Amino acid sequence: MSNDILVVGSIALDSIKTPFGEIKEALGGSATYSAYAASFFNPVRLVGVVGEDFPKEHIELLSKRGIQTEGLQITKGRTFRWQGSYEYDLNEAHTLATELNVFETFRPKIPPAYQNSDYVFLANIDPELQLSVLEQVKSPKLVACDTMNLWIKLKPEALKNVIKRVDFLFINEGEARMFAETSSLIRAGRHLQSWGPKYVIIKKGEHGALMFGQNSFFATPAFPLEEVYDPTGAGDTFAGGFMGYLAKQGGDISEPTLRRAVVFGSVMASFTVEKFSLNRLKDLTPEQLEGRVLMLKELSHF
Ligand code: AMP
Repeated sequence: MSNDILVVGSIALDSIKTPFGEIKEALGGSATYSAYAASFFNPVRLVGVVGEDFPKEHIELLSKRGIQTEGLQITKGRTFRWQGSYEYDLNEAHTLATELNVFETFRPKIPPAYQNSDYVFLANIDPELQLSVLEQVKSPKLVACDTMNLWIKLKPEALKNVIKRVDFLFINEGEARMFAETSSLIRAGRHLQSWGPKYVIIKKGEHGALMFGQNSFFATPAFPLEEVYDPTGAGDTFAGGFMGYLAKQGGDISEPTLRRAVVFGSVMASFTVEKFSLNRLKDLTPEQLEGRVLMLKELSHF
């Protein structure tokens, strides 16, 4: 087996409007953010698809961080595009348009050399594709997945089949309520857990995160930021940072390690939201990350 993290998900060109600015066709996608975040801690193998129009410099950016891109398929057609907007409540993304393009015919093909990955992160994509990844990997140590409202609405049964088979389910608060059909987040967390995942991690944007374990519960605030510029990718960064941190600890899932993984993921996301696309993560140093983790520890300790 290999202690690398396999990340499968979307690689996108995002056009985004927030109350503070606008950007067109910037590098985005669930797998992009999570692979980039995880690479701060551990080697990462990326699997996804882009079109022939995908700028080479984006692939170079990923390679420069050491992300292995042999599993990145470049096929005929246009790259997946997502258009979203946010109002002053930055916790809720409004999808304006989704252009599947090369995603329409994408079937993840996990290269033989990647099938032995110890850690697997199924970033947000069609749950049927997530299932096909699970069919191709050999006994990973830890598997996590993320999802979104679209799949809860369109493919709830396939999604349930995915989450049954994962150790960690990442889901944001609105989606947790919607999927579990309850207004109480505590009930929602427990209910989702009863469908199979060992841990459910509910992301609450600027209000932090909750982790539900077998016999445990953990709540962390978010790092308090005065200025959030664009929340896109925060959830993916969170999950990527979390998986990266766990992999770096050799897959230890003792309660203290899991709690630290949640905090590292959450703090990592606090950098992503400070600029558009991966622009802030590009300049992030391990010292800056540690610095914010220590500050968060200080301010939430009593
Ligand atoms: P989040 O971390 O939830 O903010 O994820 C944002 C990313 O999800 C964006 O960069 C989008 O490209 C990507 N995305 C949006 N819709 C979809 C979809 N239907 N399937 C896969 N990825 C998507």
